[in-house]
Order: sequence, then structure tokens, then C-alpha cells
Amino acid sequence: MAARSEEGQVPAAERLASLIHESQCTVALTGAGVSVPSGIPDFRTPETGIWANVDPMKVAHIDVFKNDPARFWSYYRPRFHSLGDKRPSGAHEALAELERRGLLDAVITQNIDRLHRAAGSENVVEVHGSIETSSCMSCTATYGLDEVDGLFNDEGIAECSGCGGPVKPDVVLFGELLPESAMSRAQDLAERADLMLCVGSSLVVHPVAALPQLALGRGGHLAIVTKGATPYDSQATLKMHGEVDEELAALLAALG
Ligand code: ZN
Repeated sequence: MAARSEEGQVPAAERLASLIHESQCTVALTGAGVSVPSGIPDFRTPETGIWANVDPMKVAHIDVFKNDPARFWSYYRPRFHSLGDKRPSGAHEALAELERRGLLDAVITQNIDRLHRAAGSENVVEVHGSIETSSCMSCTATYGLDEVDGLFNDEGIAECSGCGGPVKPDVVLFGELLPESAMSRAQDLAERADLMLCVGSSLVVHPVAALPQLALGRGGHLAIVTKGATPYDSQATLKMHGEVDEELAALLAALG
């Protein structure tokens, strides 16, 4: 619910609705927070259970994939399974609805869980890649998420069924650069945005964290819907601090 914080103040959801109506080009930038209501914990917050003592930044690393693929897959295969079962959250659904209404031009996301597409968003820039596909590093073969499970050898390593080469998820691992094409699309969108709607991202992971600055530099507004502080809070036209799915539901209600 969008509560009136002080008597006479226009609720944030209504102010955001006005910003969206005034904007000719609105671009969303999303992070792990949009997937938390889907049951996907933030990769960077401490996990519970069997992976509590594993640092993903050390295992989901390109060097581990190359040098110790069995260890890499012992972490990543269950992660594939766990992510593959998840459904879009209210936040994903709300952003897809904004696009359907012609009020959102694109979603730039740091998430690899493909839930924006699952919710129906069509113009999605996945700057860290996606679990949707995995590719052979030796030939051009590409496998869908459901096919990867059939590629594992006795050592627990995914191998190309065509050439036997190593198969890697089409996600950006730690230690890898972000794909140039996705980043240049993201930068182009940020530069064209009258309004950048940042949802569920702490806006600290570079180079994605530089995108709001590009929008600001061209005179665009920032609206931030994220729990916790971000480095851009003081430059944002508005900030919503509640649960992302509830805040975006309030936005849709305010848009009518
Ligand atoms: Zn191959």
C-alpha cells in the first residue's frame, strides 16, 4: 500500500505514475531484489543450507570453470535446478505490464534467472547473461536449460554431445567481462532515458552501476524502488523503500 507519509503529501506511487506519464522513454534497471519475492536469495547475501560455507564468487568463477569444472558444476548444477523452478514475482509481472501498456521501453537486468522474459517482458537486456542457454566452448552448439542435465559425464562435468567440448552456462561468471553488445545496448538505453526506474538493485556493482549516471548526465530522472540505501539516493527524483512487488503494485494502481 502506498501510504501518505505526511498529511498533504502526494504518495510516492502517484508521483512515480506522473513521472512515467511525462517520460517519452522509460527504462527499468533491475537487480536481485526483483527476484527475492520469487524465492531467489540475493547472490551476495549469506546463504543458508548446504551452500552456507561456499563463497559463490570463488566457485562461480571462470578460473574454476576452466581448471576444476567438476567443482564448478557441483555448485552450478543444483543452482540451475533451483533457478529453473522459480516463477516471476509481482515485480516482474508489473514491469511486463508497464511494457504492454507502452509505458516502459526496456528492462536492463543484472539477473540471470530469465524471470523478466517469463513474465512477458520482451525488450530485455540481460547484461550478466541468462541461464536460458548454455554453449559449447569448442563448437557452436547451444543447449536449452532443460537439455543441460543430459550432458553430464561420470565426473559431473557437462560435455557437448556433438564434439565433447566443455559446455558453459551463457552467464557472466565472476572474473569475466560483461558482453560488449549487451553493455552497449544498455548504455544506449540509459542515454536515451527520460526516466530510469531502478528496481531491486543496490546500484553498486560496476559497470551496471554507472548506467544511472548516464541517464542523469542527459537530464533524465531517476526513480529508485529498493530496500536499503544506494549511492544515487540523493540524486533520485524519488525513492520508494518498501517491498518491490508491493511498491510496483501501488504504481500500477496509481496509473489506473
Ligand atoms: Zn561442441
